[in-house]
Amino acid sequence: MQGEPRFSAADRERQWEALGQGTYDLLVIGGGVTGAGVARDAVGRGLKVALVEASDIGGGTSSRSSRLVHGGLRYLENLDFGLVFEALRERGRLLELAPHLVRPLPFLFPVYEGDPTGLLKLTAGMWLYEVLSLFRAPKRHRMLGRSGALEVEPRLSPEGLTGGALYYDAQVDDARLTLAVARGAYEAGAILVTRARVVGLAPSVTAAGRAEVEDTLRQRRTTVTARVIVNAAGPWSDRIRALADPGVSPRLRTTKGVHVLVERERVGNRNALIFRSRLDGRVMFVLPWGGTTYIGTTDTEYSGDPADVVAGEEDIRYLLDSANAIFPEAKLEMRDVFSTWAGVRPLLAPEAAEQLSESATSREHEIWRDPTGLLNIAGGKLTTYRSMAAETADAVAAILEERFEVRSGRYYTEYVPLPGAPEEDTEEAARRAAPAGVDPAVVAHLLARYGSDAPGILELIAEDPALGRPLVPGRPYVRAEVVHAARRELALTLEDVLRRRLQLFYEVADGGLSAARDVAEILAAQQGMGWDAAFVEEEIQRYAEAVRRTRPARD
Ligand SMILES: Cc1cc2nc3c(=O)[nH]c(=O)nc-3n(C[C@H](O)[C@H](O)[C@H](O)COP(=O)(O)OP(=O)(O)OC[C@H]3O[C@@H](n4cnc5c(N)ncnc54)[C@H](O)[C@@H]3O)c2cc1C
Repeated sequence: MQGEPRFSAADRERQWEALGQGTYDLLVIGGGVTGAGVARDAVGRGLKVALVEASDIGGGTSSRSSRLVHGGLRYLENLDFGLVFEALRERGRLLELAPHLVRPLPFLFPVYEGDPTGLLKLTAGMWLYEVLSLFRAPKRHRMLGRSGALEVEPRLSPEGLTGGALYYDAQVDDARLTLAVARGAYEAGAILVTRARVVGLAPSVTAAGRAEVEDTLRQRRTTVTARVIVNAAGPWSDRIRALADPGVSPRLRTTKGVHVLVERERVGNRNALIFRSRLDGRVMFVLPWGGTTYIGTTDTEYSGDPADVVAGEEDIRYLLDSANAIFPEAKLEMRDVFSTWAGVRPLLAPEAAEQLSESATSREHEIWRDPTGLLNIAGGKLTTYRSMAAETADAVAAILEERFEVRSGRYYTEYVPLPGAPEEDTEEAARRAAPAGVDPAVVAHLLARYGSDAPGILELIAEDPALGRPLVPGRPYVRAEVVHAARRELALTLEDVLRRRLQLFYEVADGGLSAARDVAEILAAQQGMGWDAAFVEEEIQRYAEAVRRTRPARD
């Protein structure tokens, strides 16, 4: 039985009330993977922690990445060995601690005549990558000749192909990874409220600071008092810093990255590919995602509000043309695009920003304290969130001890599985919970996505068999997942469910609009949602608009 709803709308009132009470050791601003990681680490150390997020968990950059948990082969070219080593170490940990979210993925790196990375250089790079991972890649790499590369990827352009490397990295559902980290923080006792935007900020170096927080669902405000305030607002970080000091100099150099998703058989890729775009020599990806393939990414200067970022027609054409050049039979056009996503990279501005191209700007992170007392964490990657969070929590602990005589231990997140990580008896429990007649493919889908939560979702179907019906024909998602998203995964809107808990927003051409009414009705029936018939209609309209914004105009 799933029991009482937790991490849900039903619990939000209690969480909101708690925000305004007492003094927290730590307030985290931002519920992306970085902020969620900091909150989880700090609460694990026994600290009193609150986190506020303006939109949804992972609603910012953390659900708009290339979905790779990787060392970043191309950073080897920038000689960023420290970054690659750290990322490869974290890749190994995440494969162990969240096997339901992070999966090994074979990559082909094809080499063409005239490429700056010839076969010899690639061989050296591959060995370096293995060495930096301490030989812990999911599988050892293999160098291939021209025919070997074509055997691995038969639809690849053979013209000028000299060979390639087959190697392994990992892929993740970025939104669900972020959600798991946030849920870990919540389950350990952090107060966590979404649709809660910081609108005023008065941090302090010597005493507790304050943040004015607006509940954008219920139009009300509260003040949070905290000894340390961490700004983990990703690409919004400079805006948060400016709330505390309007004269502060910006530290970020934000760039936009776009992906497009198409049906996999249109491209015909069997594996993931990392390659150089024939258009401008930039390193790009073609990545498999179930029955679909996504292509990314662009990297262009972006200074607007990260909340407004969308893929432009030029971005989409560049990605399609780059993929068509190495998969010439694909002949992808605008009308083949199911969906797009665009994210803003919270990169740190280098000293001499103008001397570096966007792609060469460092992905490394930095933790610093502003003169106002605000502690900032910015930069980094999804892959390295855990180590960044541990370092930030160390900095928080040091301030608490020095200034406030609050002592805390260390929390070894490197050894603690993320919520949902399957246990020894998970498969057996799922088989027992599955009512007769449930499609074994549904059981497999739930186990693969939810790990140890799968039996609870199957129990929902046992109680109400209608919840076992698919949301959209031909896709594995069932109605019970919507109930689970509302009761256990803090989903508060249609977009939370269809875009970030499930992937229907991206994976079907209509963005799951055909299921929007069913989903809205299931959500409206959940405790604490408070949706009436008029709100359901408005919500469907809002969702349709979000879908429209991520689809290119058809030719
Ligand atoms: C196109 C692209 C591809 C990428 N691919 C990869 C990849 O494959 N692998 C990898 O490891 N990394 C990748 N990255 C990098 C990675 O996605 C980011 O480094 C990471 O997600 C940043 O997380 P964050 O928590 O710092 O920021 P965010 O996820 O943006 O979180 C910040 C949060 O702060 C919230 N916020 C803003 N203002 C306020 C406020 N006033 N009050 C409360 N909350 C507020 C926002 O709503 C947001 O949710 C990619 C990035 C991009 C853009």
